Amino acid sequence: MSTPPRDKVQVGWICALPEEAAAAREMLDENFGTLKEQNGTDTNSYILGRIGNHYVAIAVLGQYGTTSATAVATNLSRTFSRSLKFGLMVGIAAGIPSPGHDIRLGDIVVSSPAGTCGGVVQYDTGKLVKDGKLERTGSLNAPPRLLLNAVGIMRSSTMTEVPKYLGYMEKAIHRNERTRKTFGRPDVSTDRLFRAECEHPATASTCEGCLPDWEQPRTAREDDEANIHYGIVESGNAVIKHAATRDQLGRETGALCFEMEAAGLMMDFPCIVVRGICDYADSHKNDTWHAYAALAAAAYAKELLDYVPSADLDTEKLVIEVCQIMSDQIQEVKQGLELAFRQREEQHQENIGRALDQELQDCHQAFKTSTYEAYKNVNPKREEGTCQWVLDNVLYHQWRGSDRHDLLWITADPGCGKSVLARSLADHDLVTSPPISICYFFFKDNEDQGSLPTALCALLHQLFGLQRQLLRNALPEWRKNGTQIKEEADALWRILDAAVSDEAFTSTIFILDALDECQTDHQEKLVEKLVHFYTERHSVTRQNWLKFLLTSRPYANIQNGFRSATESFPEIRIRGEDENGQIHKEIDHIVKRRVEQLAQEFNLAWETRQKLEDQLLRMRHRTYLWLHLAMEDLRTMLRISLEPEKLIQNLAKLIPDSVDAAYEKILQRVPRDARRLVKSTFQIIVGAWRPLTIPELAIALGAAMADWRRAAIAGLEPRGLAENIRQMCGLFVFIDSSERVYLMHQTAREFLVKNMTPDGREWPAQIRATHKYEDVKGDRLLEVTSKMSLITEA
Ligand SMILES: [Zn+2]
Repeated sequence: MSTPPRDKVQVGWICALPEEAAAAREMLDENFGTLKEQNGTDTNSYILGRIGNHYVAIAVLGQYGTTSATAVATNLSRTFSRSLKFGLMVGIAAGIPSPGHDIRLGDIVVSSPAGTCGGVVQYDTGKLVKDGKLERTGSLNAPPRLLLNAVGIMRSSTMTEVPKYLGYMEKAIHRNERTRKTFGRPDVSTDRLFRAECEHPATASTCEGCLPDWEQPRTAREDDEANIHYGIVESGNAVIKHAATRDQLGRETGALCFEMEAAGLMMDFPCIVVRGICDYADSHKNDTWHAYAALAAAAYAKELLDYVPSADLDTEKLVIEVCQIMSDQIQEVKQGLELAFRQREEQHQENIGRALDQELQDCHQAFKTSTYEAYKNVNPKREEGTCQWVLDNVLYHQWRGSDRHDLLWITADPGCGKSVLARSLADHDLVTSPPISICYFFFKDNEDQGSLPTALCALLHQLFGLQRQLLRNALPEWRKNGTQIKEEADALWRILDAAVSDEAFTSTIFILDALDECQTDHQEKLVEKLVHFYTERHSVTRQNWLKFLLTSRPYANIQNGFRSATESFPEIRIRGEDENGQIHKEIDHIVKRRVEQLAQEFNLAWETRQKLEDQLLRMRHRTYLWLHLAMEDLRTMLRISLEPEKLIQNLAKLIPDSVDAAYEKILQRVPRDARRLVKSTFQIIVGAWRPLTIPELAIALGAAMADWRRAAIAGLEPRGLAENIRQMCGLFVFIDSSERVYLMHQTAREFLVKNMTPDGREWPAQIRATHKYEDVKGDRLLEVTSKMSLITEA
């Protein structure tokens, strides 16, 4: 018995399990043992043999699965490159019984073309998640014509003759005691098909406890023969152990069985798949039928080979000629395999990505807790030539140009245009190319916009929008706390800290405006965190940095907090009212521009205009806010005056000398019959815990002004209220596009809640809220607003 030359092997027989290899060996008419010399890069081991007129190489996969099938097939075609004509994939599979196919254990399924399918459908279990639906990733080419012809002849032959494979099985089973033990047919009572909803108990090792009631009723077969089914084989990379999934996939593809090797073959590897059915892909599956099913498949393959004329096979193309992907270049094969592997990996990553993407989006959305953009845009746009007291400042330029974590603190008295500056910095002045990330938050003295967690959420929401990768730093805390995270200043700061330490972090500026309007305890906490952050990291020069820019009034408590770190932090400090020449110069410039506009608008004589300008420039406490209020007030008076020129002659009395005086003047002009309404309006706006909308304000006003007993059902008509409020409360309030009513400036609130003693003049004292802010909240207003909330919630 001499080993045939390698060049005579035309059939590659590929199997995976020891039972399958043993069954294959039983089918050999002559066994030449293992192949001694082979390509050095080929890691397969082969048993060479003869079946009829064909020399066969049995190649055994080391393990289940499509990837190793690819490697085995590639090596097979390489080692037998000069003679190999086709492959047989022979082994076991899980059956998919259906009304159309009464598949039993031990039956045989042979891959056959159907419709556009070549006989093997590849599926990727990674893609099963989508609606539980199977996504086909491709199908193998149909088996070569030669094999299909052989199948055709065998099919017709078995219709009239006793097939030979049954005899091959008998012979193999009865060869000796061991083969009887290994390959003998298990008792038919162990072939149990359970209804899909009857799951195998997780703890039971056998089906002894699985009730006969659970079984699908099937008529007993007349004989115990292994039947043959021709159709589609489904091939994937995971074991299916779930009856409902099995049935669903079966319905979608019409497949008769699942297996795990064929899909790994290249599309054009010429082969046929022969499978013995060993279980039903459900939770009850076990190994009882493995060997018998493997033997049935092997016996079928042996008979099939009988129908392949070896003369025809000699003229058949070589596998390596058929497989474009293989050509002669091993390198190309490798690349193809790597590509296939990469594609599968990418699909997998894509699926993970999709799921993660949704989570990331939800996580990102959790930080959108305020309308931070609206609060920025409430501030007027900066006028050319203004805010130069900062923009020309050497400390500002040092901060801007430094390449390390840094902080700039800008303090100035009310009305110097800090918020206008902050908006301008965010929108224009700090914008660079290539862009750095600019995030901002404008504190406001209300429940909504005065808290540190809200500010941190806004900053993080913007940061994650600009640098999406950083979201990963928020996921752990978000998974732990959900949307609750928006309340946790410490957790939010930890996320910020992690994001800044992330290698994907790029240079970022955080602008925090009006720190003094942040709630006091939150203010302290923020200052503490900033001091800690910068004392730890400040000095290091780095490629990507985080810079803060803070604006605030020069309040002692904030200053004290910073004291421990002041040496490291530059501070631009302006006392807007009288200590800084720069800001006065800027305002003088604006004064001239405004007067010119006013002169044109009202056609003022040159002398009048000059007089007005002189008067304004002579004022000692000149701030932007003061100028704004004074000019607007002047414009109103001019509009209602019949003799504008004469009015201006009396200027000294007309121009308020401070912001408070300007507010006072505005109030004085409210008509007597509207005073009660204006007073109530201010009380409600000042006392409300968050900015109210016009309809809310209408209800509150109705309640406040009505008789107590009817308060709950009262309510003003909201239509037209916005316009009324704009006219009567004038420069104090601002109504945004979503109809929320704000106080224009923090100084307006302060003016309204000042606990002044009546100064004798009837009007301002009357309209002023005569309680302190806190008292207003706890007073009648509280009842009014709580009644309002009852009404709105009802
Ligand atoms: Zn069971």
